Amino acid sequence: AKAEGRGTYRFFEARMGAQVRDRRRLEHDMRLAVARGEMHLAFQPQTEVRTGDVTGFEVLLRWRHPERGPVSPALFIPIAEESGAIVQIGEWVLREACREAARWSVPLSVAVNVSAVQLHAPHFVQTVHEALFQAGLRPARLEIEITETALIRDPSRAQATLRQLKALGVRLAMDDFGTGYSSLSNLRTYPFDKIKIDGSFVRAVDANEQAKAIVRSVLGLGRGLGLPVLAEGVETAAELRFLADENCQAAQGYLMGKPGPIEDFREYTHRMTAE
Ligand code: C2E
Ligand code: CA
Ligand code: CA
Ligand code: CA
Repeated sequence: AKAEGRGTYRFFEARMGAQVRDRRRLEHDMRLAVARGEMHLAFQPQTEVRTGDVTGFEVLLRWRHPERGPVSPALFIPIAEESGAIVQIGEWVLREACREAARWSVPLSVAVNVSAVQLHAPHFVQTVHEALFQAGLRPARLEIEITETALIRDPSRAQATLRQLKALGVRLAMDDFGTGYSSLSNLRTYPFDKIKIDGSFVRAVDANEQAKAIVRSVLGLGRGLGLPVLAEGVETAAELRFLADENCQAAQGYLMGKPGPIEDFREYTHRMTAE
């Protein structure tokens, strides 16, 4: 039994070793990915529920690894966070997003995700300022999406950073609201302009009364605080109808458009003159 136990342990150790090596390899490859042109941005439309009009796009990072093919951000963003590589990658995302949005003839908004490490990195506000200035993008067209998890690491520092971003004229959205550390007081304490309700609730509204109640209460909260609410992860017409009936302002999800190259959305970003 003892020998068997040791064998199991060795097997476990070997597997752990392989996982660690795999992670290190990914971390190493990621540091070179931007320079090698393996990263690109996908854009997903955000719409006004009442009219269906596209009001802006969320930017989602994509990495096509030369051997592995597409790597999910759900896999590589946490590794980039831990290694600190997210700071350089995130700067690149901000610059590219601002440059792209500055080219549009329709002044739609562009929403960029910012993680905890980025938010707390030195000079983050300066980086945002430079990205806007170099692109010539009006600050009010940039929205920064931040999760509550990113705030709890150092609340007073986060508070100061968000205030500085607001002073620049950038808009702030609270991402993934309803998951994890959601606290009502965060909406009051930090200067957010919008609440994004997590897709997991939205996708459950047609099957689940509890999900409906949660979505309704977030919408009520938004109304009470004067903050517009965007529902994420909308996949079906029934979900969108529910949101319309509940007076939800904005929506995003596969139903309105999957994330894709900005070229796929030229009809929204550019005003066509000849009819
Ligand atoms: P997120 O910010 O909550 O982004 C929404 C995720 O939901 C995206 O996954 C998007 O592709 C997906 N999605 C959109 N509509 C639907 C829908 O109708 N149904 C379903 N099932 N999913 C939908 P993605 O692109 O895989 O990104 C995952 C996460 O990675 C993001 O979650 C965000 O936290 C992070 N991320 C992506 N790009 C960046 C970035 O440039 N910087 C940072 N720091 N994080 C990023
Ligand atoms: Ca987001
Ligand atoms: Ca989200
Ligand atoms: Ca559903």
